[in-house]
Amino acid sequence: MDDQDATAPPAPRRIPRTRKRLPLAMSEEVNKKFIFPNADLMLLATYEKRPVKGKVSSVAMSLASPVWQKFIFPPFVPFQDVDKPKDERNTEIEEEQDDNGQAGLRPHPPADPPADRPKQLRLSNGGYMVQELDFREDNGAALLVLHQIAHLQFRNIPFRLPDRFGCPSYIFNKLASMCDLYDCASLVKPWVENWVVAAQDGPRSADHVAWSCCHTVDNGKWLFIDWVFGREQSFEEGAKCAVRKIYVRRYLDGTLRYKIGSRNFPKLAPPGLLENLLKHRLRDIKALLDIVYAHEKRITEGVKEEFGWSQPIVCNHYNRSCEAIIYGSLVLELTSLKLWPAIIEHEYSESVEELAESLQNMTIHHIGPTKDLFDGKIETHENCGGINIREQVQEYMVKQADPVLPHHREHMRIQRERFEPAK
Ligand SMILES: [Zn+2]
Repeated sequence: MDDQDATAPPAPRRIPRTRKRLPLAMSEEVNKKFIFPNADLMLLATYEKRPVKGKVSSVAMSLASPVWQKFIFPPFVPFQDVDKPKDERNTEIEEEQDDNGQAGLRPHPPADPPADRPKQLRLSNGGYMVQELDFREDNGAALLVLHQIAHLQFRNIPFRLPDRFGCPSYIFNKLASMCDLYDCASLVKPWVENWVVAAQDGPRSADHVAWSCCHTVDNGKWLFIDWVFGREQSFEEGAKCAVRKIYVRRYLDGTLRYKIGSRNFPKLAPPGLLENLLKHRLRDIKALLDIVYAHEKRITEGVKEEFGWSQPIVCNHYNRSCEAIIYGSLVLELTSLKLWPAIIEHEYSESVEELAESLQNMTIHHIGPTKDLFDGKIETHENCGGINIREQVQEYMVKQADPVLPHHREHMRIQRERFEPAK
């Protein structure tokens, strides 16, 4: 009989895993993708949500990325040297410190190094090399492409990067983030333009079709891709498009989400970009609201002195009824759009594009033909009001300020220079 307390609640039943295990043959097939020639280093990765153990070449990786080189050949004294017993290691570190005459200046190894720390080999030149690299946090499909290029497996490099969730830029965006993180954008540069064309010409989900007016914005992901690979013109077009399409949602917990289409604006974005897009969005919304509120103000506050007394300012025939209908329909339209009583730009949560469209679709009524009191001539009121909201909004939307910050342009210039042949 076991010694468990009989009154203790029963242990929760283990919930069986629903996901099927990958058959061994398939698992080996996936592993094979990550096994490269002249491999001397173990690589841990996650590919299609499954753990992968691959083998890679430390030389190929070091040439591909200066960051990977530092991972593989760490420029510091390791905490754990697997080649030597613990006593000998400590002695060696002490002796080295004595020789340099700088005892106490170098970091001292902790008594108990973390168990998950990668194992390291001592090299004949006195340096160290790790035996295992852990890329499990990175996207496996993007990682595989990087390694295929680094290991010169050009025949395996896809003509079109794979889709995820119907999004043709998903893996591309992951790849760009890794190129940024590992400082290896120039490694993939020869394939970038082909991948862009293939992604933008390929099949798209409903969301992406809906944004076809500006192909450079797929949920904001292209902005990061353009920024990493120095595609300045595309970045500028995409940023301008994002200013017009981005909108705000406040969640129950009080947090704000910035969205384009049905998706959140990606967390991974060039520094300062989202803030600048929002700043431009607010400026545009204020300008559009100012257009309609100026008309309302003109009607209520405007005075036209004629014949010795003040006349209605909006009716060409000084008809009070005409003025009332024009004013009433303007205010009713604004009320139905939740823009009346007047709001400020921070209170509007939809996109600039939506506001512009709503304003352009407003219908301002006027009265039918009337007779002049003195000569009985027919007066038409089609041109009364002088409210040309549609034209004013159109005019504003055509000219758009540049939301690209100088440091974005500088970053893209530097990226491009790295790809260009040296002069
Ligand atoms: Zn009139």
